[in-house]
Amino acid sequence: MNACIVCIGNELLSGYTADTNSRWLCEQLLGIGIPVKGVWLVPDDHQRIVQSLKQAEQHGQIILVTGGMGPTDDDITRPAVADFLNVPLEFKQELLDQFHTFFARMGRPMAEKNRVQAWIPKGCEILENPRGTAAGFWRQTQDLRVAVLPGVPAEMMYMFETQVLPRIQTSQADSIVQNAKVRCFGLGESDLAQRLGNLMQRGRNPLINTTCGAGEVILHISAMARDQADAAALIEKDKVLLRELLGDYIYGYEEETLASVVGGLLRQRRKKIAVAESCTGGLLCKMLTDCPGSSDYLLCGWITYSNSSKIVQLGVPEQTLSEYGAVSEQTARAMALGAAQKSGANVVLGVTGIAGPGGATDQKPVGLVYISVFYDGRCSVHEYRFPVANRTGIRQRAALTALNLARMQLRI
Ligand code: ATP
Ligand code: MG
Repeated sequence: MNACIVCIGNELLSGYTADTNSRWLCEQLLGIGIPVKGVWLVPDDHQRIVQSLKQAEQHGQIILVTGGMGPTDDDITRPAVADFLNVPLEFKQELLDQFHTFFARMGRPMAEKNRVQAWIPKGCEILENPRGTAAGFWRQTQDLRVAVLPGVPAEMMYMFETQVLPRIQTSQADSIVQNAKVRCFGLGESDLAQRLGNLMQRGRNPLINTTCGAGEVILHISAMARDQADAAALIEKDKVLLRELLGDYIYGYEEETLASVVGGLLRQRRKKIAVAESCTGGLLCKMLTDCPGSSDYLLCGWITYSNSSKIVQLGVPEQTLSEYGAVSEQTARAMALGAAQKSGANVVLGVTGIAGPGGATDQKPVGLVYISVFYDGRCSVHEYRFPVANRTGIRQRAALTALNLARMQLRI
């Protein structure tokens, strides 16, 4: 089975809203072994919607539609889909009742405008939307399955997961798909592909795909089998192979993050961490505190952006700054040592670098970052020249690299 996606809304074509719905849906569909053959971004225009649906029908047995399901005059997905399906719109009293309940819960009367949302194409099943009034609908025939969902990402995702996915899965009952993620850090995507060799061959089962960003590569394993147990066994076998081939480059699985893995190791080893940041401006501390329960091991963080704060807050010697500069191995070391002394932490990460676009010199280009790691009395400093073109990317990469260095230390 193949799928096609049609996202509706003028805002998607004006550049005002980036279409993230199709990206997410593609990932979900591929995750259950259904490739997406095309994505259409269509304005709020009846004819264009109908045309796109007709084209989509040529390429997939499943069409997912998002957007234009609201009560306003620019929301014309319902009549356009009815036209495509060649059926009239039908009034659903149960939907109107649900809208009344929905508004009553919020303590407001329902606007007359919302009435229009109770009309859906005849012969379609209602897909409920407990988070809003834009209900969706599902239509299944011998050759085609169509799911129509609201455009608001949170509503669309919830409805897809709870109501569309189960319907799609029952229609491919002869095989099931199970997915897993293996997360790596510190290895480029092509190096990784080299190491994996034919494990990434197309048509293989399980199928392995990669996505990457900010130094991280995620391997998506997708196994197809007759039942859950067989699929799980296939995935487990691949994970063993991947561990043999990638070793320490693998930092985690599924939704783990470098920060959560570091947190787990700190907790396990009963160690405390502190951070001293310059160019990452608190990002490293944010990543650590994104993990629930991080107060178990995080003591504190400094954002010492100026030279004077590095001197006053962390005790970096003035001479170190004037002799070697704020972005230097020596300053990074002094930041970590100062933070270690002031916080009493066992593990300290220090980051100083040039995030750009300005501030570079011949010797110190944009992307030059020094990361210091203090661990139980010893301090090492690592120099990086991140080949990233933008400020956000460099900062992200620097913070993740620092966490990865902590992970490597704590693993030993
Ligand atoms: P509503 O009841 O909110 O009007 P709707 O189904 O009509 O729901 P739209 O009006 O199309 O949805 O979109 C609502 C909001 O959802 C948009 O302003 C936009 O921010 C977001 N949105 C819509 N389509 C997409 C998309 N493809 N990707 C990401 N965001 C989207
Ligand atoms: Mg709308």
